[in-house]
Amino acid sequence: MPVPVTHAPEVQTTAPLIEVFSSIQGEGSLLGRRQVFVRFSGCNLQCSYCDTPYAPRQECRVEKVPGSGTFTTWDNPVKLATLVAYVRSLMDERSSCQDSHHSFAITGGEPLLHAELLKQWFPCLQRLLPIQLETNGTLPDALRQVLPWLDWVVMDIKLESQTGEATPWEAHRAFLRLALQAQCCVKLVVGDSTPDSELHTAAELLVNTAPPYSSNLDVVLQPRTVNGSCSISGSKLLRQQDILSGYGLDVRVIPQTHCFMQLL
Ligand code: SF4
Repeated sequence: MPVPVTHAPEVQTTAPLIEVFSSIQGEGSLLGRRQVFVRFSGCNLQCSYCDTPYAPRQECRVEKVPGSGTFTTWDNPVKLATLVAYVRSLMDERSSCQDSHHSFAITGGEPLLHAELLKQWFPCLQRLLPIQLETNGTLPDALRQVLPWLDWVVMDIKLESQTGEATPWEAHRAFLRLALQAQCCVKLVVGDSTPDSELHTAAELLVNTAPPYSSNLDVVLQPRTVNGSCSISGSKLLRQQDILSGYGLDVRVIPQTHCFMQLL
């Protein structure tokens, strides 16, 4: 009887990237850390405030010298080996014993749309730097596949008042349960039009999903940025923080800061 031919699973070595650069994290709980940003194309949501380029492109842009604003391009899809060589060159350029880079920021779009690929890339990337995943927090099955390689997960709770789309509460709940296996930061983008009721619902989800006094959960209120400025009155922001804190959550208010630093 003929023996069926089996093939080893193919290692996916190329990915559709938008941009790669070294910069300072401007949001969330790793604010101020130097990271290598790797932005993947594609997203499963259409938030009304989105200003992130995520549509697939023929070329990925790569900053030649960090902070210089000058770019070269790589053809898409990009090879893992090309990315690894770039990151090594960034790290080698640092003169002495201590490298400035803290971690990778794997971002999008929605990087978890590429979970099959990420689970093949992460073991290699993790040998260079620890990994932070930035995600809209809606694809729990995809997160499960890559969790073993993640040190930090920064997930959104997408509030309908800001995105214009119904909040996927159940997906966020399932996602958060898994994300808490890493160090998790939950980010809520808020605006002047955010009703208190949305924050109460978000707070209930958080306290009902995370174990009480979870040391691995950070909660960040991020005032929406419009034309480079915070779009929300100070009094409203303080009130929104009070609402979440009233549930026993440890809440920080952190606006997007990269726009003040003239950095990507
Ligand atoms: S999830 Fe992020 S990348 Fe996707 S549309 Fe919303 S803001 Fe843009």
